[in-house]
Amino acid sequence: MNRLFDAPVFGLPQEEKSGLLLARLNELTQRHAQGCPAFANILSAFGWGQASTYQELPYLAARLFKLTQWQSVPQEEVFKVLTSSGTTGTPSRIVLDRDTAALQSKVLVKILQEFVGKQRLPMLLVEQPALIQNRSGFSARGAGALGLSFLGRDHTYALDEQMRPNWPVIEAFCDKYAGQPVLLFGFTFMVWQCLLEPLRERGLQLPLTQGVLFHSGGWKKLQHLAVDNLAFKQRCHEQLGLSRIHNFYGMVEQVGSVFVECEQGHLHAPLFADLLVRDPLTHRPLGVGQPGLLQVLSAIPQSYPGHSLLSEDLGVLLGEDDCPCGRRGRYFHVSGRQQGAEVRGCSDTFQ
Ligand SMILES: [Zn+2]
Repeated sequence: MNRLFDAPVFGLPQEEKSGLLLARLNELTQRHAQGCPAFANILSAFGWGQASTYQELPYLAARLFKLTQWQSVPQEEVFKVLTSSGTTGTPSRIVLDRDTAALQSKVLVKILQEFVGKQRLPMLLVEQPALIQNRSGFSARGAGALGLSFLGRDHTYALDEQMRPNWPVIEAFCDKYAGQPVLLFGFTFMVWQCLLEPLRERGLQLPLTQGVLFHSGGWKKLQHLAVDNLAFKQRCHEQLGLSRIHNFYGMVEQVGSVFVECEQGHLHAPLFADLLVRDPLTHRPLGVGQPGLLQVLSAIPQSYPGHSLLSEDLGVLLGEDDCPCGRRGRYFHVSGRQQGAEVRGCSDTFQ
């Protein structure tokens, strides 16, 4: 893991990066095989062992985390259990030990600093204050916001307990930081529904011209309103004054290792994570330009076997090492969820 922290997050060519990451993933496979008998059984049933390519890595279907609790640490080392609150179905339960929880924050901050720099900026969270303060909830959404909060200072919550804009608070933040570099964070649907829409109804614009917004999750709900990424960006520009808006993608089972959208609108794999695309029916690995199911790899999960997961998300690999933004490694696009897959809640999963 230390070797990963020493290397540039988006600077290594794919060949070099995948070598480093694969070594870490093989180490995790071994750790989980020793600590989690159910995982060891799966490895032997499928004949999985140490991998020399991504394609040979063992993988679990992400939905398995809804069916049962996976853990590879003894009970006394469990630090907390994260849950994702889906609107339907059972939530995923993710078992964290202290080291894994610490890695989640450390990796997340390291990735996002690539976009905002190391300076801690004033931060406006499109959230209720209770989300983080009430830590007994242990929602994945809260864990995500908590991880992100390390990136900022003067944390300000834009919403009240009823999820309505807290106008005096928003106004004070804008008075203090208008035209200065600030950080904004929120779940896509909540930014739209709880901030952009109320601003529009009141005919207000915020002066956050030097702000950077990170947002994630919840496109499904916006699709019902016919809002796509471009329309969302446009509205953020018009009503918040923002010109830097980054969507990011990540799984609740892999909190911390996120894929952030670049200036070209492409999601990029950081050093700590990667992805493969597989045929939804045969699971055969697919190449650039061939849409399929996303398999996501993460260097973080030490306390449960979630380092290689087959998601229920559909997408396409766009390229490797050659995005015009200059970042190296793989970049891709997520197009939606596999048909028949359970619909998750709007802001549940810190995606
Ligand atoms: Zn790019």
